[in-house]
Amino acid sequence: MTDEFLPFSRPSISREAIDEVVACLQSGWITTGPRVKKFEEALAAYLGAPRVLALSSATAGLHLALAALDLEPGDEVITTPMTFAATLNTIVLAGGKPVLVDVEPGTYNMDVRQLSGAVTSRTRAIMPVHFAGMPVDMDPLYAVAASHRLHVIEDAAHAIGTEYRGRRIGGFGDTQVFSFHPNKNITTGEGGAVTTRNPELADRIALLRFHGMDREAWNRFGKTGNQHYEIVTPGYKYNMMDMQAALGLHQLPALESFIHRRTEIARRYQEQLADWPQWTLPATPDYPHRHAWHLYTPLINPQAAGMDRDAFMQKMKERNIGTGLHYRAVHLYPYYRDRFGFRRGDFPNAESISDRIVSLPLFPAMTDSDQERVLAAMSGLFQGT
Ligand SMILES: *Cc1c(COP(=O)(O)O)cnc(C)c1O
Repeated sequence: MTDEFLPFSRPSISREAIDEVVACLQSGWITTGPRVKKFEEALAAYLGAPRVLALSSATAGLHLALAALDLEPGDEVITTPMTFAATLNTIVLAGGKPVLVDVEPGTYNMDVRQLSGAVTSRTRAIMPVHFAGMPVDMDPLYAVAASHRLHVIEDAAHAIGTEYRGRRIGGFGDTQVFSFHPNKNITTGEGGAVTTRNPELADRIALLRFHGMDREAWNRFGKTGNQHYEIVTPGYKYNMMDMQAALGLHQLPALESFIHRRTEIARRYQEQLADWPQWTLPATPDYPHRHAWHLYTPLINPQAAGMDRDAFMQKMKERNIGTGLHYRAVHLYPYYRDRFGFRRGDFPNAESISDRIVSLPLFPAMTDSDQERVLAAMSGLFQGT
């Protein structure tokens, strides 16, 4: 047994990716340029998406997709409390009001059966989150969206490589936002991308991504480019750099092998932990899907475990094993309680998950013996050894 700290996640960066970053640095073009364009085309081909816009983060993507809707004060966006804070933060930043529906107890995904009950005359969009890479039940969700003429912005931060009924997330539907943060399934350092099948929305996001300029900077300085640009709206600065895309160009071809290894590790956790009274394991919905296994997130049963989630995380850390907390329910954060009046009790499934969820180590380079170490530490811990 080794004493080395095992993190809950670690990116796998190939020699080729490092060489590409160095080549980018030496090329004289570091910011948005040919490598970003190539990465966008590679993503579009992988996803089966007509248009991909690479960005500085998924948070930027959520913000732009929402900003492009030009929300009026009082406009509502329906989402889930079981997500990263950025999902709700960007709704507020874009001038919207987050309206929440509770999640399913087993997949932690938005319970789409509760959607139509949350729609009002002010609803403009639905923002599902494919939790841990498990797809939300999209057919009934898009049926609700269609019948109320709502936009759908999928927070697909966990879901590159996820499939729903044989279709890849990002390859169908309205708008999807992906994250390339180092913990996610592929990384560009920081980074993200938006795909949309709505051409007007795509144009608007392209404009908002870079100052509201009607031309990208690298066009202006290229041989064929026009020196002039016009500002047609006050935009943000959310472009991706070529230095980031250099990583992405080598991460994307590795995605299938990453998911393959993640799936092996997740299945082994599912098998090994199946009979432990201390855990309730993630459930599998009955619609056809491919889970991208961004996270492996069981729920601790504090009574049987003799400790709560926070104590478990602490004790694992003392054994040199990192775990993660994804996520505490967002409606219980002070800002959301104070501003929107959310209370404990509003979304019981999300709250129970929020109190008990833990992310066990899961990343492509994790070895079988790393995983044995995790399982042995867990078993020792519950025996009080
Ligand atoms: C990581 C994450 C984001 C934000 O992604 P960044 O690229 O870090 O901005 C948004 N939503 C969810 C569900 C995430 O996990």
